[in-house]
Amino acid sequence: MNEKFKRKILHLLFPTKCPVCGCFIGSMDRFCINCAENLHRYNGNFNIKGAESFTASFIYDDGIIPAVMLMKDGICGNAGYALGNELADRLADDGTVDKIDIIIAVPMYRKDERARGYNQSDVIARVIGKRFGIPVADRAVVKIRRTKQQKMLDRKMRMFNLKGAYAVRSPEIIFGKRILLVDDVCTTGSTFTELTSLILENGALEVRCAACCHTSDIHKKSVQSG
Ligand SMILES: [Zn+2]
Repeated sequence: MNEKFKRKILHLLFPTKCPVCGCFIGSMDRFCINCAENLHRYNGNFNIKGAESFTASFIYDDGIIPAVMLMKDGICGNAGYALGNELADRLADDGTVDKIDIIIAVPMYRKDERARGYNQSDVIARVIGKRFGIPVADRAVVKIRRTKQQKMLDRKMRMFNLKGAYAVRSPEIIFGKRILLVDDVCTTGSTFTELTSLILENGALEVRCAACCHTSDIHKKSVQSG
């Protein structure tokens, strides 16, 4: 069953809603027209230490925050489809998609993932993977301990907080490969920096990073991610 048909059938049972305002939209739509007009595209040139490139779809502001929070609240709805496809568009536009062999979602601590029911970064990674036929490496990298909420810490403490929090479980999967790391929100880039370094140490050829949203300084204080 192809994706379009699957979504049409699902739409009959559970009508598709805009992940920002909750109004009903078409089965293949990502957002409603009004909310789509209020989204602010990311056009910055943020760098992640050690990574070849960084791609983001939106600036993390009130236009997109409800969709991100929907995923963090464990509801997901149309947010995974909308955010995943928007990021896939950007990755195609900037040419990243031609330079990756494997996608890895920024992992969650297993108990936290079980409590939410899914890892939102993994949902987004799978939308991108399916669209371009690129495999998503499941549990190649894992989070082995809980970390403090990054928003409570300054930049130096963020790096310290993440040190040793992640581990490579299947180095054979990433060895010699060009990896795309996917997250929902990128703030200071500490999480991407830590994972990029870990993955390169384990033999990956190159690492590229992509997030649905990138925060500006104004929003750093209210963000719940790294
Ligand atoms: Zn809307």
